[in-house]
Amino acid sequence: MIKLSDPYDENNIFAKILRGELPSLKLYEDEQTLAFMDIMPQVDGHVLVIPKTPATHLLTLPDEAAGPLLITTRKVADAVRKAMGAEGVMIAQLSGSDAGQTVPHIHMHILPRQSGIDLAFHARDIANMDELALIADKIKAEL
Ligand code: 5GP
Repeated sequence: MIKLSDPYDENNIFAKILRGELPSLKLYEDEQTLAFMDIMPQVDGHVLVIPKTPATHLLTLPDEAAGPLLITTRKVADAVRKAMGAEGVMIAQLSGSDAGQTVPHIHMHILPRQSGIDLAFHARDIANMDELALIADKIKAEL
């Protein structure tokens, strides 16, 4: 259960990815942000962007981290759109369990959208890692 008043949990999955304690398929990294593949994608090309600043959700993200997060999200979203041949891109951010948040480190979802292709269930089915790596390579080629 993630409440908006929760303190930051240093042992959440994305904190461990940031510290290199858990693997991830990284797409882009700079001093303040990291973008990587979502392992339970709702659509091919589903990417997550996180700030390196510890914050549980958007409402507690410090102002100075908000700009870089949005800039990286926009940059990576454009690469995702091109790589997946999508005409639309959906950016989602869930704050608190009641909004559907499952990992307590703020993240932006990038979901390429194409007419006629529906989204799969949120955070349910783990992707085939070889297929995910191929998609990651396509996106990286556009960055
Ligand atoms: P939320 O529900 O918090 O908005 O989104 C969390 C996202 O993280 C989900 O889309 C879920 O598929 C993804 N996710 C959960 N665990 C992992 C993990 O260990 N690695 C990666 N790359 N993504 C994860």
